[in-house]
Amino acid sequence: MICPCDTGRRYEKCCKLLHEGMFATNPLALMRSRYSAFALGLVSYLNATQTLDVIDELDDSRWTRLLIHDAGADWVRFSARWEANGHVGTLSEHSHFEQREGQWLYTQGESLDMGALTLPSRNANCWCASGKKFKRCHG
Ligand SMILES: [Zn+2]
Ligand SMILES: [Zn+2]
Repeated sequence: MICPCDTGRRYEKCCKLLHEGMFATNPLALMRSRYSAFALGLVSYLNATQTLDVIDELDDSRWTRLLIHDAGADWVRFSARWEANGHVGTLSEHSHFEQREGQWLYTQGESLDMGALTLPSRNANCWCASGKKFKRCHG
């Protein structure tokens, strides 16, 4: 199976390694592995990699696509596409991370201000993570 996190790699050679205990080497790798955990319903992994309150269960959204906008030393900006009860939408977030005892953890996120992003080029993937080219979607 191809990993949900959009690296194009096989799950076994990508987020599965982290889901089985390997530490992420940077916030972007952790963010991708957490997205994959959302997509695969791995609640215990999500709880193990965040400083927020424990999640009891995930809602019934299906996470269908991840698009990374950019990432820094302790943050990642991304959009993720979801489907639930016949609706689709996009979550766009600026996520913050902190390293504790060698392990990167998700600490908080706020809604991403899309106006702060550089416009994608016309033939690049749209920033809403629809999988369409920007010119055919929000362009
Ligand atoms: Zn992955
Ligand atoms: Zn779009």
